[in-house]
Amino acid sequence: MEIVILAVVIALVAVGLISGLVVSSRKKKQLPPSAPSSTPTLTPPAEPHVGEEAETPRDEARRTIEEVGLPGAGTPVEETPVVIEPEIPELEVPEPTAGRLVRLRARLARSQNSLGKGLLTLLSRDNLDEDTWEEIEDTLLTADVGVAPTQELVERLRERVRVLGTRTPDELRTLLREELVTLLGPDFDRTVKTEGGEATPGVVMVVGVNGTGKTTTTGKLARVLVADGRSVVLGAADTFRAAAADQLQTWGERVGARTVRGPEGGDPASIAFDAVKEGIAEGADVVLIDTAGRLHTKTGLMDELGKVKRVVEKHGPLDEILLVLDATTGQNGLVQARVFAEVVDITGIVLTKLDGTAKGGIVIAVQRELGVPVKLIGLGEGPDDLAPFEPGAFVDALIGD
Ligand code: GDP
Repeated sequence: MEIVILAVVIALVAVGLISGLVVSSRKKKQLPPSAPSSTPTLTPPAEPHVGEEAETPRDEARRTIEEVGLPGAGTPVEETPVVIEPEIPELEVPEPTAGRLVRLRARLARSQNSLGKGLLTLLSRDNLDEDTWEEIEDTLLTADVGVAPTQELVERLRERVRVLGTRTPDELRTLLREELVTLLGPDFDRTVKTEGGEATPGVVMVVGVNGTGKTTTTGKLARVLVADGRSVVLGAADTFRAAAADQLQTWGERVGARTVRGPEGGDPASIAFDAVKEGIAEGADVVLIDTAGRLHTKTGLMDELGKVKRVVEKHGPLDEILLVLDATTGQNGLVQARVFAEVVDITGIVLTKLDGTAKGGIVIAVQRELGVPVKLIGLGEGPDDLAPFEPGAFVDALIGD
């Protein structure tokens, strides 16, 4: 008899376990499908509420045992329900963009003393003889201003100093400021275009040799745009450098920008295409595409970037192609600029690492070289150390105002 009761109890427990599994698997199917790994969702998982937990096989089994009244089962221990808080990434609020260059001017002033202050000291000499003018020229060349712009500047300064006759330090500073600002092309339109089409987001492609700060700049630019109230999708099309996609995704997550990525070594063009598609689907304002810049051969680079551009343009025209150059690489940076300009139509330059070089004159040289304005400058490794380039504020940082 006892054996029969035991067999019934075991059978009931087994039935309970099976039905519990069915319940739980049915509930799982009702969950919304999780986002594909290539497009991590920012939506937190639905919060479990007290009293609404799914029944577990264990609950079912326990009830069955209680109903049967198995001796020794007793009253079930009261379990306090555990509410698991979903992990909501805390979004950062980037610094406002306006006035960043002024805020970061100390970084420039520190590294550019030899240019601005050096020029002022030389110009203040009582006797502006040939040797002094040569020294002025050398100072400009050392700061990577470039030969032609240096000669222009020295000629104009000589002429104006001659006309001026007596020179007070204030007059000299004003003079030098005006001439440097003129050389920087104050009339260039330096806005980063992100308007896009009627139903398409603005699309910005970021190109440059690896190591120049391309991915960092893409991340910082996302913050600039978010600070200006725009929504951003990032395209991790630098599939060559292993960590680039992770790096970009981290930048994006900090400000709530979704990153579209593919497998390592995958096709950059298809990722770029998908990123814009995602941008359109979620109604984003801007899509930023980070690309790989391997200068192995010009043809290779041309093939790769050309393809990314063509494929992206199936969605609509690109708004900007920004070339990232490392200011510390001097003349080498100019060579890179030339190669990239032959491969794609650069619409703006981002000069990075200006905080770590006294060669700020590269701003002038590279604009001359490409006929394209420097739109943004990198002044440090911090997340908001990217500033819109303003010639007046830049020169003031060089020579003090
Ligand atoms: P990528 O290979 O071109 O994508 O280069 P990364 O974005 O990985 O940057 C290379 C290094 O340059 C990183 O250590 C960055 O933190 C650093 N970097 C980027 N921009 C700046 C800048 O404006 N100033 C300084 N000091 N470092 C920078």
